[in-house]
Amino acid sequence: MTIQTVGIIGAGTMGNGIAQACAVSGLNVVMVDIAEAAVQKGIATVGASLDRLIKKEKMTEADKAAALARIKGSTSYDDLKAAQIVIEAATENEALKVKILKQVDDLLAPEVILASNTSSISITQLAAITNRADRFIGMHFFNPVPMMALVEIIRGLQTSDATHASVKALAEKLGKTPITVKNAPGFVVNRILVPMINEAFFVLGEGLATAEDIDAGMKLGCNQPIGPLALADMVGLDVCLAVMEVYLTQFGDSKYRPSPLLKEMVAAGRLGRKTGRGVYQY
Ligand code: NAD
Repeated sequence: MTIQTVGIIGAGTMGNGIAQACAVSGLNVVMVDIAEAAVQKGIATVGASLDRLIKKEKMTEADKAAALARIKGSTSYDDLKAAQIVIEAATENEALKVKILKQVDDLLAPEVILASNTSSISITQLAAITNRADRFIGMHFFNPVPMMALVEIIRGLQTSDATHASVKALAEKLGKTPITVKNAPGFVVNRILVPMINEAFFVLGEGLATAEDIDAGMKLGCNQPIGPLALADMVGLDVCLAVMEVYLTQFGDSKYRPSPLLKEMVAAGRLGRKTGRGVYQY
């Protein structure tokens, strides 16, 4: 199926990033959020992001105007009917996503693909609540979407080959590199990344090295652009802890137990950059 118009549910961090990537690639976008203010904020964020590209001479004012003209903001799911694929990028809350997906599933033509950008909810389970389980798929973008090259495409148990092929082609049209993953907690990237961050907290808690030396070790020794502890401060220590707890429960394997130091820091409210203090002080 040729995709000309992409529907996006949620105009937040990820939704507006996906909208930008689509519009810059020449696709039409319908971006829906609950309130007009959220829609306008999403569109303004795209505008500001495109302005930065103009400053860096990667884009012209005319390109910006053309991209923005391709994005239609709305507060009505009805407007999603214009799309050949709808990507759900609303708040990470299972009950909310179930409600949204049921609503749009009833609304959209049968051939329309429904994708979710969820980081943690089972794609197989979300697919099962719709009447188009074979046309349901995970499309996990990374933040900030316009900068990050990867899209993890998550196949639920029911996802058809045709749906996978259409979504892979879409990711490539956006200039991204897709990888295909079977549905499982954390998919692939976060499944490896978050336990590595957790291990850095074990190492710090055992007093094996200072935070600065742990981060320098991983940057210089493994060519990582940022150390795991500095990354935890960016992601949020509470988010890292919550992810480890999900892995521990869902895999039932003690190798996913959260580091005691990570738990202690979250209990102290040292959640990272967002609270001004995590592993480091900001
Ligand atoms: P966000 O809070 O920035 O944005 C969520 C948006 O959804 C908000 O604008 C909110 O108003 C809107 N929304 C809530 N209920 C809605 C409804 N019923 N209909 C339409 N819109 C609704 O969140 P985000 O960081 O953009 O995350 C969105 C999704 O992307 C989540 O599933 C998250 O797990 C996933 N994700 C986030 C990141 C990240 O780094 N932020 C990375 C990958 C995936």
